[in-house]
Amino acid sequence: MSFTVEVQRRVRVPAPPRAVVGVDVGIRHLAVLSTGQVIANPRPLDQARRRLRRLNRQLARRHGPRTTDGTRRTPSAGWTQARRRLARTHARVANLRRDGLHKLTTELASSHGTIVVEHLNVAGMLRNRRLARDIADAGFGELRRQLAYKTTWAGTRLVQAGTFYPSSKTCSACGSVKAKLALSARVFCCGACGLRIDRDLNAACNLATLANLVVAGSGPETENACGADRKPRPRRAGGNEAGSRHQLDAG
Ligand SMILES: [Zn+2]
Repeated sequence: MSFTVEVQRRVRVPAPPRAVVGVDVGIRHLAVLSTGQVIANPRPLDQARRRLRRLNRQLARRHGPRTTDGTRRTPSAGWTQARRRLARTHARVANLRRDGLHKLTTELASSHGTIVVEHLNVAGMLRNRRLARDIADAGFGELRRQLAYKTTWAGTRLVQAGTFYPSSKTCSACGSVKAKLALSARVFCCGACGLRIDRDLNAACNLATLANLVVAGSGPETENACGADRKPRPRRAGGNEAGSRHQLDAG
């Protein structure tokens, strides 16, 4: 059996409509905001990893449902218990992660008129095995998914920087763009104006600047960026949240 429920959500006008925040989603921190606020990475997986490892070893040692040649047998009570514990630990990790992300995205969507995030190629980054675990742990994809629907509910504009917008390599003070910036360099040092600023904060500030360009109408925005800024659109049946999302391709 299945059924459908239609929920009427009022599209609210965001509390401070002019408040713009740039969000740099990172690996060291869950996020750095252009306001200077740093949201720590909860890394629930790190904390539970030892327990998961131990439970996995325990499970392997116990009398499971298959012999070494693959024939089935009745698993021992100890194996069944270990398997249940392992499943519970996995579920707890997932819950903790989701909870942390929900707190962040709710706060972001309810207290800002415009949120600017980077366009992250999560699938591409996950191919880099060294970064994969951290990124998966921080739940980038989940964060973006939550922001997409919560901004629609809150009447907040979600702006996504273009894939090739160099938010990390651009100086947030003078706008000059570095040719190269090592991933290990945690502090951005501008060769043109001498600015020294935390790398992630610099990126967040650049993202916020990008939104201001759109608001002023001078930016290289595409589609319907200006209209949605003044009048939040009611959510369409079918769940298409395109009304409050824009793709920017700033160079
Ligand atoms: Zn500079």
